[in-house]
Order: sequence, then structure tokens, then C-alpha cells
Amino acid sequence: MPFLTDPQPRIIIAGAGIGGLSTAIALHAAGFTDIHLFEASATLTTLGVGINVQPSAVLILRNLGLMPALQEAGVETEELNFYSRHGHPILSEPRGQRAGYEVPQFSVHRGEFQMLLLDAAKARLGADHVHLDHALVGYEQNATSITARFARRGAPEGELPSIPSMTGAVLVAADGINSTARRLLYPQEGPPRFSGRMLWRGCVEREPYLTGASMVWAGHANQKFIAYPISGRSARRGASLVNWIAELRVRDENDPDVTPPPTDWTKRVPKERFAGPFAKWACGGLLMADLIDSTESVFEFPMCDRDPVDRWTFGRLTLLGDAAHAMYPIGSNGATQAIIDAETLAARLADVAATWQQAGVVERALTAYQDTRLPPTSQIVMANRANGPDHVLQLAHERAPDGFANVYDVIPKDELESIGAAYKAIAGFEKDAVNKKALDTEHLAKRFEVSEVKAV
Ligand SMILES: Cc1cc2nc3c(=O)[nH]c(=O)nc-3n(C[C@H](O)[C@H](O)[C@H](O)COP(=O)(O)OP(=O)(O)OC[C@H]3O[C@@H](n4cnc5c(N)ncnc54)[C@H](O)[C@@H]3O)c2cc1C
Repeated sequence: MPFLTDPQPRIIIAGAGIGGLSTAIALHAAGFTDIHLFEASATLTTLGVGINVQPSAVLILRNLGLMPALQEAGVETEELNFYSRHGHPILSEPRGQRAGYEVPQFSVHRGEFQMLLLDAAKARLGADHVHLDHALVGYEQNATSITARFARRGAPEGELPSIPSMTGAVLVAADGINSTARRLLYPQEGPPRFSGRMLWRGCVEREPYLTGASMVWAGHANQKFIAYPISGRSARRGASLVNWIAELRVRDENDPDVTPPPTDWTKRVPKERFAGPFAKWACGGLLMADLIDSTESVFEFPMCDRDPVDRWTFGRLTLLGDAAHAMYPIGSNGATQAIIDAETLAARLADVAATWQQAGVVERALTAYQDTRLPPTSQIVMANRANGPDHVLQLAHERAPDGFANVYDVIPKDELESIGAAYKAIAGFEKDAVNKKALDTEHLAKRFEVSEVKAV
């Protein structure tokens, strides 16, 4: 690892989600050692359901020595199949290495993914650098430092015991879609913006369907069903742990109210809320009603995002991941973009490692990170509002609501393929660019292979 000046800049990260953990690991790999990670939850459990990590982010994780852990936990996604609500095939796209990428696309359980990042962060930073039950509640900064203040959550109203603050050179707020830091920076912004569509999500183990590593996307913008396997362990037993998402519009498209309905990610909900409209849906070897019926626990998530802002960096404070650019979970991009943020931030801070104590240097590095990442992520937020790659579903539905015999009668082949290609360019996972970087950075992954061999 490159060596940095002594003393090292202290980097404080708020939020141990996928963004915060990846940032800590990326900073450590860049040579920083005085990194402290603060997480509001008292325990990190395997919360969440399926998540996708696109090749652009898998490459970053490969270069951080995390490929073996990802292979153990996740499924290397092979194809993405789009169907109409009648089950008619629209498009089948190879994914990951099947599509010629040097590295796979992974589908993985979000909680398991978070745990594997947490294990790596603790092992590399030191377990005493990861502080649970520390919610960021405020900060103060001056020309030379920034101080983050924390409190414990869960105490009775007005009795939140305060806990020691920490002063450092940088504060990275990776505290998710309901970011406290963002609220302090943008007090007028209010809650996330509700799309009017609700997602119900569950996971169930069953026999594999299609390739055993296939994603199924069916329906249209206001009624959609998505399914994909997410567990490497399950696959090695010859089964498939299938993550599924049923999506329905629950608020009128013309309703100006974008306040999200109150929901709790951790609370089970009854299936009657959404199962009816999917009763007859079938495609890709799946009967949607069977998947829903055989699933024990279903969770409800309002589909939300936030309007892009024009600034994430304010002196020594910057936003990262969902705190910076919460987007609809369309195009399987939230985790991927947070991981790309992490790599970019670590690189910009490493650029100034030798001069970080000079006036304005850290602030300029954080601004450089913002200037690299803010424009493309804002573009993705807006592309996802226009359905992202799922636009193929919407087009098929609008042009042939009663179905079709051959999709090319409805959407010409070129038009169909151009939608996915345009999205890949916006989201930064174009094959040639990812593959060039994979070759150029092979030496980075090798650093970890050597230390693993030595450890044995
Ligand atoms: C519980 C949970 C379940 C999820 N499940 C899914 C899923 O099934 N599928 C999917 O596609 N996406 C899911 N997501 C969203 C997905 O993880 C993110 O879109 C993406 O990974 C970007 O990660 P992030 O680190 O920016 O945000 P997040 O993953 O949301 O992480 C933010 C972290 O910050 C912590 N935090 C919040 N406020 C504070 C504070 N004030 N101080 C310190 N820490 C704070 C949170 O507890 C959380 O651990 C989930 C997120 C959460 C929090």
C-alpha cells in the first residue's frame, strides 16, 4: 500500500451501509489508516433483500481483494430477461462475464453483502475503528478541522444521551436516503420524493429456473414483477434463493403529493396488499403467485428518490451514496454508484496525501470528488425516473397492451437494443471501459492475493 505523511489525516465516515463501508475499505487500500466509521444502528443485521452489483463496481471490489467473498456470498448473474405482463418475451440480454465483461455482475443478499464489507472493514481498519450505536447529529468545522457530534438512538424523546464527538480532517456522510447531514445542509428539502409506486419484496428458496442465474423483469412501469437468485450458498446446494419484487402504483400519477407513506423496512406486511393483480402472471419458468405464496416474510418499501442537488461538498464535509444521490431501484444501480463514489473519493484524497495539511487542499480534493461524481449520478437519478433500462417494458406495454406474437413487430430491434446501451453509458458500465480498466488495474487485486497467501 502507498505510504502517507505522518500525521495522517483523520477521516470520519458516518453510516456503515454499502457506501460507508466501501469508502472505509477503499481509503485504507489507498494508504490511509486513521479512519473511523460511525453507524447509527446498535447492531448491523442482515437487513434488506436482493441487491445487484454491476461489473463496474465488482471491478472496484476485486481491486480491494473482495472477489472471493463476493463469489462465496452471491450469484454471478448470467442474463436479464424482459417480458410483457402477458409473459411474452421482449428482450434477453447476457450479463456480466456472459456478456464479455472481465468481471461478473453479482446478485447478492443486501444484508450479507453489508456483513462481508463490515468484516473486511473491521479486519483492515481495526474493530475499534468501527463504532456502532453512534448516530451523526451535527458537525462544526473551521479552516483546519471538522468535528462530528453523535448521539445514541432509541433513548426516550429528549433524553438522547450524547457521546463523545470526534474531530478529524474530513467528514464523509454516507448516512443513506434519510441522511442527517443532508438535512442539515438542505433544511428545506424535506423527506424523500415518493414515486407513487410501492415495492413488496421477499425471498424464497426453490428449484432453479432458466439458467439458475437469470433475472426476470416483467410488466410495465405501474405493475412490475422482478425475480432473481441471490445466494451462492443456495446455488452450491443445487437450489435457488430467489429474491422477488412486486411493484404497483398506489398513488395516482397526477397526484402532486410526493410525500412517502409511512412504512417500516423491518416490518412484515400481509400479502393481500398486493398479490391479487399478479395472480395469473407467469414467465421465465416462474409462476408469480407460487413465489408469493411460498414466501414467509414480505416487506414493503415505497419507491423513493431525491431531486439532484448541485453541491455535495461543503468545506471538509461531503455526501456519498444514497445521501448524495438516492435513486429509484431501477437499473440495479444504488449500491454500484455508492461503490464508485467510494473509489473516486479515496483516489482524490490520495492525490493530496502529501500536502493535506496545507490550507484548502482537503476541501479542493472533496470538491474534485464531487465534480467527478455529481453529474453522472444526477443523470442516473433522472434516467431512472424515465424508467431507465425498464423503458423497454413500458414501450411494449404502450404499443401493444394486449400482447404481441413477435416483439420486433412492436419495437424494432435497433430501438430495443439502443435503450439498454444508452443506459449503460449513463450508468458507467460500458463493457469496453470496464474491461480496459480491469486489465490496467490487475496489479491492484494482486496485492491482496499476496497477503492472503502470506497469511496462510
Ligand atoms: C436496512 C436497509 C435495507 C435495504 N435493503 C435494500 C434492498 O433490499 N435492496 C436494495 O436494492 N437496496 C436496499 N437498501 C438500499 C441500498 O442499500 C442503498 O441504496 C445502496 O446500497 C447505497 O448505500 P448507502 O451506503 O449509501 O446507503 P444505505 O445502505 O442506506 O446505508 C446508510 C447507513 O447509514 C446509517 N445511518 C443512517 N443515519 C445515520 C446517522 N445519522 N449516523 C450514522 N449512521 C447513519 C444507516 O443505518 C445505514 O446503515 C437498503 C438500505 C437499508 C438501510
